[in-house]
Amino acid sequence: MMEFRDLKKQYQVLKNDIDTTILKVLSNANYISGPQVKESEEQLAEYVGVKYCVTCANGTDALTLALMAWQVGSGDAVFIPDFTFFSTGESPASLGAYPVFVDIDEDTYNIDPKCLEQAIIRVREEGKLIPKAVIAVDLFGQPANYKEIRQICDQYDLLLLEDGAQGFGGSINGKKACSFGDISTTSFFPAKPLGCYGDGGAVFTDNEEWARLIRSLAIHGKNEEDKYDNVRLGMNSRLDTMQAAILLVKLKAFQKHELEAVNQVADWYREQLSGVGIKLPVVKEGYVSSWAQYTIKLSNEMDRDWMQEQLKEDGILTMVYYRKPMHLQRAFWAFNNINVGCTITKKICSKVISLPMHPYLMKREVIYISNKLKSMYN
Ligand SMILES: *Cc1c(COP(=O)(O)O)cnc(C)c1O
Repeated sequence: MMEFRDLKKQYQVLKNDIDTTILKVLSNANYISGPQVKESEEQLAEYVGVKYCVTCANGTDALTLALMAWQVGSGDAVFIPDFTFFSTGESPASLGAYPVFVDIDEDTYNIDPKCLEQAIIRVREEGKLIPKAVIAVDLFGQPANYKEIRQICDQYDLLLLEDGAQGFGGSINGKKACSFGDISTTSFFPAKPLGCYGDGGAVFTDNEEWARLIRSLAIHGKNEEDKYDNVRLGMNSRLDTMQAAILLVKLKAFQKHELEAVNQVADWYREQLSGVGIKLPVVKEGYVSSWAQYTIKLSNEMDRDWMQEQLKEDGILTMVYYRKPMHLQRAFWAFNNINVGCTITKKICSKVISLPMHPYLMKREVIYISNKLKSMYN
C-alpha cells in the first residue's frame, strides 16, 4: 500500500538524529518547558521572519490563543473561508464569536477577497454584529492572497489572523507563510508540512504585547514571573520538550531538503497529469506552496468515489479534503442565517481528491499513480 503521507520513510531517513535527541530528553527528564522548547521557538521565529514565536499544544489552541489575546467573543463577527478544516471556524465559535463563512477562489481554493469584502459590507449593513477579524487560511500549502486581504482589513479596521496550519514553509515573493497575519498560527500535527510526533502548534507575531499575553494565556493566565500567580483566565496549552526536540531535527531537514523535494514531486505530478482533463493545483506567480496536500479537481463526468475505490485496489491511498462546506457542518447550523452563496465551495466539495504527497515520494511512484489516473480517464 502506498502511504498518503509517508512518515515511516521520513523516520528512517532522520532516525539517527531523532533517536539521539529523544534519548537526550529522556535522560534530562525535563519534559515540560525544557531548553529545547525555547530553542525551537527561536528557530521557528527566525525561519518565518517574525520577532516572536510562542509554541503551544496544537494548531487549534494556537488560533484560540490569538483570538483570546484580541478578546474576540460574543457579538463579534469573524470572517472565515467556507472551505477549510473545522478548527478555523471552531475556535472563534467556541469563544462565542459568530463565524461568517466566505466563498473561495476557484483556482487556489483560498478565501476570495471580493467575497470577503461583500460579506463584511453585508454584516455592517445588518448592524447586529461587530466585524472584528478575518481568519485567512493557507489551504493545501499555498498562502492566501494577502495583498488584497490586508488592504480589506485595513480599510474596514479588522484584525488579520493567518491560519498557517497547512502553509508552513510557503511564501509570497520570498516572504514566508506565518508572517502575513497581525498574528499567524501553525500546527505541528504529524501530517502537516512540518510535523512533530504528536500534537503541537505555534503562534507568530511581531507584536510584543500580544506575544506576552499569549504566553500567559497558554499557561493558565500566569503572571510573567510567577507561574502560581494567575492574573487572567487562560488554558493549559504547551508544546512539550520531546515534541520541541523532534521539531528541531525536523525543521533542519525541512530547510535542508524536504521543502525542495516536495516541490519536485509537485512538478512530476504536473508533467504526468497535464492535458488529461483533470484540474491540477494552481500556484500563483511569486507564490511557493509547501504542499500540505496535492489536491486535484475531477471533471464532471468522473465519479470520485469510484475513482478512489479503483486507486485503493491498486494500492494508492487518497483522501478527500473537504467533503462538506463549513457552513453545512451541523455544528454551525445555528450560524447559517448570515451565510449567502458560497457556490464555488459547494461545487468543488464533490469534485476534489487529494493524492499521495510528501517529500519522500519517488518519481516512479508519481508515474505509477498518474498512469492509473490516466487509464481511468481513457
Ligand atoms: C490541521 C489544521 C488546524 C488545526 O491544527 P491541530 O494541530 O490539528 O489542532 C487548523 N486549521 C487548519 C487549516 C488545519 O489544516
